[in-house]
Amino acid sequence: MSKKAGHQARKRFGQNFLHDPGVIERIIRAIHPKPDDAIVEIGPGLGAITEEILAVNPKLQVVELDRDLIPVLRTKFFNYPDFRIHEGDALTFDFSQLTDGKPLRIIGNLPYNISTPLIFHLLSQTGVVQDMHFMLQKEVVQRMAAVPGDNNYGRLGIMTQYFCKVQPLFEVGPGAFRPAPKVDSAIVRLVPHTELPHPAKDLGTLQAVVRTAFNARRKTLRKALAGVVTVEQLLALGINDGLRPENLSLADYVSIADLITAEKESGQGSAQADESRAKDVSGDTHD
Ligand code: SAM
Repeated sequence: MSKKAGHQARKRFGQNFLHDPGVIERIIRAIHPKPDDAIVEIGPGLGAITEEILAVNPKLQVVELDRDLIPVLRTKFFNYPDFRIHEGDALTFDFSQLTDGKPLRIIGNLPYNISTPLIFHLLSQTGVVQDMHFMLQKEVVQRMAAVPGDNNYGRLGIMTQYFCKVQPLFEVGPGAFRPAPKVDSAIVRLVPHTELPHPAKDLGTLQAVVRTAFNARRKTLRKALAGVVTVEQLLALGINDGLRPENLSLADYVSIADLITAEKESGQGSAQADESRAKDVSGDTHD
């Protein structure tokens, strides 16, 4: 536990506060905030990044879950009357209410304990987002940027790349934080595509196919997607059924999902496939 400004860092909120001025400056340079940007910070904590952004953009808005930090932030930044603090949970927060007509620039040194569900929630809101800059565990950034064939290629990378261009920027060691986390960190920039490069006819079906495939990532597609598509259907799409889920591109997954959607629309889906998919959509949170 580390104590700063009278606040005890809380593990359950994923609190590792940045204190290295060099790292903070590098993050600010990467974000490149401008006075008129609509910037939203997730998890301002004790305000290490907040302070530097406010100096350029006094209309900054923040979303913080730990209610004990709210008075600390109010006191520290009392001289910024347009600074807005939203006490709430970023996992369920409706970011569209913050836009005021302008696309948002979302930033944050995110709580690592909830980073994957938080990224999925943010991906569902990319319609109101200009760009996002996040500090995450290094492995999470690697998974987001992974390409077919990489060991860490999976659901997180495919769905992030469905919505965004992913740019890993630089790594940050544990010593930049108090308390120091046990893992390395990295900064990533996510820029939502203005037009999706591989739009799926039905997003839910794409998510279900990707989840089912990677629940059996070591198996061949024939087995991993059994009950979802037949070997003949895979071959008709030009996909070798002997490959593994990690070998398929986003475009391949979209083509499988679209085939299933088309089948569903024409009422041709097999009862077995429907049952398997229903199980999957309601299923786990594996990534
Ligand atoms: N930005 C600060 C910094 O860089 O020093 C703090 C970063 S700390 C890694 C993560 C922050 O996110 C903490 O302030 C924590 O209280 C906050 N947080 C944790 N879970 C949250 C949630 N679900 N919604 C909003 N904020 C959350």
